[in-house]
Amino acid sequence: MTEKASKTSKGSSELLTSKLIKAPHYITTRGFDLNKIDFRQVVTAEQVHSNRVAVVGKTDLSKTIPGADALITAEKEVALAVRTADCVPVFLYDDKTPAVGLVHAGWRGTAMNITAKTLRTMEKEFGSRPEDVKAWIGPCIKACCYDCDLVELNLYQLIGSGIEAERVEVSPLCTGCEQSLFYSYRRDGSGTGRLYSLISIPI
Ligand SMILES: [Zn+2]
Repeated sequence: MTEKASKTSKGSSELLTSKLIKAPHYITTRGFDLNKIDFRQVVTAEQVHSNRVAVVGKTDLSKTIPGADALITAEKEVALAVRTADCVPVFLYDDKTPAVGLVHAGWRGTAMNITAKTLRTMEKEFGSRPEDVKAWIGPCIKACCYDCDLVELNLYQLIGSGIEAERVEVSPLCTGCEQSLFYSYRRDGSGTGRLYSLISIPI
């Protein structure tokens, strides 16, 4: 599973990954065939622009967690998934515990500090220390196409929570600008597709 994910991501425009995160993870691009997703069973969040963080495990596989916009797990073989089309996907990996987190941060969730709350919940539930966490802010709408700098605000929450700046990677890609790569709610309207972000603990 891990090998296939990393091999597929190399030299392909279909799956994008962060060099920092040494756990299986990626975000799909526009038109990606979801049947090709190599995480067999995932847990998804309902995504209602809340700041609710759900702790999930094997018993939640194939479920959508009602009312949640962030998912965390310390269980192996549990892949977390969120869908975005401009909103910010924030990938979190604590390689010491180990534990992973995945955040869907639109402007409402960002304003309610969902990324900082997710880190606090990982600390409380799993004992994850912020200094052991690496983070990736994936492709999303940037200040060039949107009047609110969601990337900067989520970056501020990560750094403010105790993650060192060099342990955070920010994708340079804007979903609004890169029409050939990404769906964009703001550019294409509500009927557009979604990008899928996935992460799990290494097996
Ligand atoms: Zn842009």
